[in-house]
Amino acid sequence: MAKKVLIIDDSATQLSSLKIFFKREGFDVATAHNGVEGYIKVYKETPDLILSDVLMPHLGGYQLCRLLKSNKETKDIPFIMLTVLDKNLDKFWGTQSGADVFLRKDFDMKLIVNTSKEIMEKMPVSDIIKQELLSYEIDENDIMSEVNKILDEELMKTTITNKFRELTDYTKDDYALAKDIYDILSAISDYDAACIYFNSPDSTAKKRLILHEQNVSLSDDLILKLWQKIFHASVNKNDFTPEKITNEGDLAPLNSLDDFESYKEIDFYYNDILTGKLCLYSRENLKWNKMKFIHTIQSELDLFLKVKYLYTKTRYLSITDELTSLYTRRHLKSVLSQEFARAKRYRTTITVAMVDIDDFKKINDVYGHLAGDYILKEVSKAFITTLRKTDFVYRYGGEEICILMPETTLEKAFIPLERLRAAIDGAHYIFEGKKIHVTVSIGAAMFNQDLNSGEELIERADSRLYEAKKTGKNKVVIKNNE
Ligand code: GH3
Ligand code: MG
Ligand code: MG
Repeated sequence: MAKKVLIIDDSATQLSSLKIFFKREGFDVATAHNGVEGYIKVYKETPDLILSDVLMPHLGGYQLCRLLKSNKETKDIPFIMLTVLDKNLDKFWGTQSGADVFLRKDFDMKLIVNTSKEIMEKMPVSDIIKQELLSYEIDENDIMSEVNKILDEELMKTTITNKFRELTDYTKDDYALAKDIYDILSAISDYDAACIYFNSPDSTAKKRLILHEQNVSLSDDLILKLWQKIFHASVNKNDFTPEKITNEGDLAPLNSLDDFESYKEIDFYYNDILTGKLCLYSRENLKWNKMKFIHTIQSELDLFLKVKYLYTKTRYLSITDELTSLYTRRHLKSVLSQEFARAKRYRTTITVAMVDIDDFKKINDVYGHLAGDYILKEVSKAFITTLRKTDFVYRYGGEEICILMPETTLEKAFIPLERLRAAIDGAHYIFEGKKIHVTVSIGAAMFNQDLNSGEELIERADSRLYEAKKTGKNKVVIKNNE
């Protein structure tokens, strides 16, 4: 049986010349003068191939193609888009709409027919599909409403994409960023509660899980359980502060994970690195994967988290010291001036401590420079493990380390500083089989309204460090002996 070609073109001359040529080649030919008529003929004539013009009244070629490619019964019929233009943009839209082949009208007829034969060979339309097409009753009005539905969805997808692309302020605090993301998510998807996690390239950074209580309020106990479930790790209640964004209005209190009938947990990766997590929870049994736009959300968030991770990593590398992974002195300068201004303005306090390894020159001389490097690295780790996550540690000079303790008085600072000193004093550092004993001296000073700059605060801490060195080393000095 001869194959049937449906040719759709609003120009009568084009139509008839194409028709003559295809007939001469032995094809059955059906014709239509615009997209709507073409759409109806697809069902009535059950063609093996559709050849369509782009610009036509009522329903254009792109829209027709998109419509046919979104219907399960017509999506497998090969579609050739014919156009007079050869602009890249046209080609782009042609492929976006799902056309299988894109040809210029002014091409040699022979080429058009040969391409048609090839694609019919490659994508044969089965009799089952043809039978199914014949069973449909197509109303002209339905077509336009279908087109509008598709266009609405496209518009929605574009809107979602744009909303995500607007979130490009990666320096923004994670909490504010999470809030922006929830604003988008809650507008387009149904969930009762959600949580988001941004992974940091700084492995010492505190893990933050930022929750959204949309229709339910979560007890601290429940949040703790969620945290443990999401990170597959236990966490001490005291080390964990729930961070949440809570909707206004009456929220149903929830105490147990079992109250959620369904959930979706998505891990995002860049190569093998986790960039973040998003979890959505509902009291209803939702089919998350069937949810409209969930794939758009997922791919947009994937891209966003990737860029955010890379951005944070670049920033992290530029402010951390290679040997010790501590922040650099240059970074201290900018943070200190901010913190100083904040303390001055809001009358809060801040303590700065200067730490210096005792007789470090001797360690280098006796055990070698590599041993010295090793000690520097290991001692730096002690800072991270013994101090609070809210304290910032900087490599100030060779073996000098500076600690910034925001909102901490000198008396309060003394306890962790002494703990740090004792931890280093009590540690056994072993390099190439040799045990090395290390001690540090520490001087600390607190912000005072009479100080004019962060540098002055550091000078004051430094003079106490000098005092510690002068009076025997391996000690913490928080007051000058004047
Ligand atoms: P004090 O107890 O008075 O602080 O004596 P010290 O020997 O620790 O002090 P000094 O300032 O005389 O010597 C510090 C030494 O630290 C000198 C320098 O070679 C060494 N140093 C600085 N940076 C590094 C580094 O990155 N690696 C190694 N291995 N040594 C370093
Ligand atoms: Mg020293
Ligand atoms: Mg020194």
